[in-house]
Amino acid sequence: MSILKEKVISFKERKILVPEKPIIPFIEGDGIGPDIMQASLRVFNRAVEKAYKNQRKISWLEVFAGEKGFRKYKNYLPEETLDALKYYKVAIKGPLTTPVGKGFRSLNVAIRQKLDLYACIRPITYFKGVPSPVKHPEKLNLVIFRENTEDVYAGIEWEKGTKEAKKIINYLKNEFGVNIRTDSGIGIKPISEFATKRLVRKAIQYTLENKRKSITLMHKGNIMKYTEGAFREWGYELAKEEFRDSVIFENEISGKAPEDKIIIKDRIADSIFQQVLTRPDEYDIIATPNLDGDYLSDACAAQVGGLGLAPGANIGDEIAVFESTHGSAPKYANLDKVNPGSLILSGVMLFDYLGWKEVSQLITDGMGKTILQKKVTYDLERQMENATLLSTSQFASAIIENME
Ligand code: NAD
Repeated sequence: MSILKEKVISFKERKILVPEKPIIPFIEGDGIGPDIMQASLRVFNRAVEKAYKNQRKISWLEVFAGEKGFRKYKNYLPEETLDALKYYKVAIKGPLTTPVGKGFRSLNVAIRQKLDLYACIRPITYFKGVPSPVKHPEKLNLVIFRENTEDVYAGIEWEKGTKEAKKIINYLKNEFGVNIRTDSGIGIKPISEFATKRLVRKAIQYTLENKRKSITLMHKGNIMKYTEGAFREWGYELAKEEFRDSVIFENEISGKAPEDKIIIKDRIADSIFQQVLTRPDEYDIIATPNLDGDYLSDACAAQVGGLGLAPGANIGDEIAVFESTHGSAPKYANLDKVNPGSLILSGVMLFDYLGWKEVSQLITDGMGKTILQKKVTYDLERQMENATLLSTSQFASAIIENME
């Protein structure tokens, strides 16, 4: 046990302490999960070896969820797996298929909620040479901080005609004189000060640590005043209360913004969707409620080359689970065909989180070179001229060759 403890990541005064040979659990995932996880682990191991020889190494520990969890434990999300994620603090996962009619809204949402991984972090950066639907994809360089536990994703909803839906409709009518059609489904959208502030705090800390320039609070507060509008108010309040010396608000700037302060601004959701297309370089870090963030991150990912290259992480106060943002694409399972880029880049985020920046750099450069050589998987190959079609495993091997 004591040997094992030496290999466990821990935290002291909010700072991560990473042993030289940490144990990191991985969930292989369903569908294309095994293909992309095997490819990614090969890239990670080679990059660590190349960066640190034998001085540092990851001991990957497989833990089970999804279909493999069900086969082993008769449970799609075994307690043992959640315990391991809590204990080892940092993990990586492939996509999980949502079991139909088995009591889970989504396994991925369940993991985020059970471990209170309240910030979904999605960097959007462009790799030169990737086909894109816009003229200047390189101008988009964002990190989206999406609140992960509240909003309409909290799962508080009732189907049309159920006694709960009827009761709420009656209650609203009797107590508040609000008329809702009796054939309505009902959903509840909670957004709290607590969850908003901890998300915005994390976004500001990230912005400071990574020397980024601005944070935009994205919201639809002109319509949903006490949820999304309050998100905006609480975001500004938190910035003022906790980071006053490090930030400047947009309305305080006259002329050129000071270089040593983070600019805090806010924009309405629909306007952001327009502006990431028309003025992408005006945005840097975006903090947003759950549903807005979900839509925006896929739209932005499409702008820089699609979901096959979009990484993500779900992070709480200590526990962090890095994951590909696409699903399990079951029709491509075990074909050694799809793009492992999203999971590999989620690994880059993981190594950044550990502070192993040399590894992140090697992998990012290796992938950048491979794409520039036009050696890509089918999703990119079909959109590029004179590209070489590689399988999942060949793409990983090409990245490894390019790291040498
Ligand atoms: P999906 O992302 O699995 O696939 C949609 C399409 O995107 C695929 O048919 C494929 O054409 C393309 N695609 C996805 N990943 C790709 C890759 N790595 N390389 C190249 N092309 C890729 O979405 P879906 O079909 O709606 O969902 C399938 C299952 O995955 C569902 O059960 C869903 O609930 C689950 N899901 C899981 C996650 C997650 O684990 N975080 C996210 C989304 C969906």
